[in-house]
Amino acid sequence: MGDLSKNFSRSEFKCKCGECEQVGPDPKLIPILQDVRDHFGKPVTVHSGHRCRAYNESVGGVEFSQHPLGTAGDFTVAGVSPRKVQDYLLSKYPDTLGIGRYRGFTHVDVREGKGRWDKR
Ligand SMILES: [Zn+2]
Ligand SMILES: [Zn+2]
Repeated sequence: MGDLSKNFSRSEFKCKCGECEQVGPDPKLIPILQDVRDHFGKPVTVHSGHRCRAYNESVGGVEFSQHPLGTAGDFTVAGVSPRKVQDYLLSKYPDTLGIGRYRGFTHVDVREGKGRWDKR
């Protein structure tokens, strides 16, 4: 039981540097991840949520990244290929969100407007 939704807790989105003040997650992000959780019926692991500017630079995040804003999540679904997860999000949310395809995980963010990229 999460403190943000059935399956998600705020602590899962904490910056990995362990030193900064947590920003987010943006409340709009949670229903999307919960939707993915419910659609596939499998646990979702958030690998990166909030990233402060310093940590974002240390991992090579692009400057306009949504992670410092607390609006983004990089995640995987247990036993489901990232490609399948990405296909689902792209078909369910054709006109909104930032959706990034990576080989090992999926990026989603709740930016204004729409963003798409493929880094596989
Ligand atoms: Zn940090
Ligand atoms: Zn990301």
